[in-house]
Amino acid sequence: MTDIDGNAVAAEIRSGVADCVETLQAEGVDPALATVLMSDDPASETYVSMKQNDCEEVGMRGIHVDVDNDAPAEELYDTIDDLNADDGVHGILVQMPVVDHVDTRRVLRSVNPAKDVDGFHPENVGRLVAGNPRFKPCTPHGIQRLLASADVDPEGKEAVVVGRSDIVGKPMANLLFGRGEGGNATTTVCHSRTDDLASHTRRADIVVAAAGIPEFITADMVSEGATVIDVGINRIERDGESTLVGDVDYDEVHEKAGAITPVPGGVGPMTRAMLLYNTVKAASEQHGVEIEL
Ligand code: NDP
Repeated sequence: MTDIDGNAVAAEIRSGVADCVETLQAEGVDPALATVLMSDDPASETYVSMKQNDCEEVGMRGIHVDVDNDAPAEELYDTIDDLNADDGVHGILVQMPVVDHVDTRRVLRSVNPAKDVDGFHPENVGRLVAGNPRFKPCTPHGIQRLLASADVDPEGKEAVVVGRSDIVGKPMANLLFGRGEGGNATTTVCHSRTDDLASHTRRADIVVAAAGIPEFITADMVSEGATVIDVGINRIERDGESTLVGDVDYDEVHEKAGAITPVPGGVGPMTRAMLLYNTVKAASEQHGVEIEL
């Protein structure tokens, strides 16, 4: 069994991004990511500050806008419009979930697709599905990089994605079955209505677990030597302590898997690194400056 070290791969990506930031700055472009927060989810604030710290680490400008949770939805839409119009802002990320009185779909539609570094605007979703992505969504893109780092080529393999969310499951499946490098797998997407989930996961050479259920994928559900990617981030109480676990029962499954991502230290750091990657890509495309990513 090999642990796939997301921290190490993410550090390599960040280092490449830092080089791109320098190249862009030498050409007079100061890449900038704007984060916007209007959320009552307690984790959202932490996520946004982590993303701002990440920007700083690679020498990228981070801009943060807080919109009061009680403000009318229009205030958020106006904030997005202002950032869209600002040539000094290259990537915009609205932290999800937004407060209930805001229309999430409208938010996703409002971000200029050229600055939509999450890849959630309908135009960018369409481009991904059409096999011509502008920005690959951060988590599945990070997973594609993790597979490559472990020399796991999905081509011709059986891949099973557990979960069909818009941010993980669906784009992951698109990348896995899509043409080109890191794709060409025969891909099955499972969800809460799937009958006999284990019969699918057991067949898989690559399992991507993104159901949001703690330690849900057990050893009897994976085949010997399979590559297991654990997207889940679940906080649970164990032995009276709060601890973070994935969607995979790591202790059991790592004995059987050929390669596995730990939680923490697997997919999570890659999601953050790919956001920086998408932001320098956005800056390069908006200003026509070539970078080597
Ligand atoms: P969602 O809750 O949006 O989606 C969960 C998916 O799992 C749904 O498609 C659901 O099916 C499916 N599901 C639920 N129960 C079962 C079941 N019993 N059997 C099979 N499938 C099931 O979650 P996300 O995709 O947003 O996130 C998934 C996990 O990944 C979470 O733990 C989240 O915290 C984590 N995450 C981690 C990231 C990282 O960077 N590491 C980034 C994003 C998320 P249905 O559609 O039928 O309801």
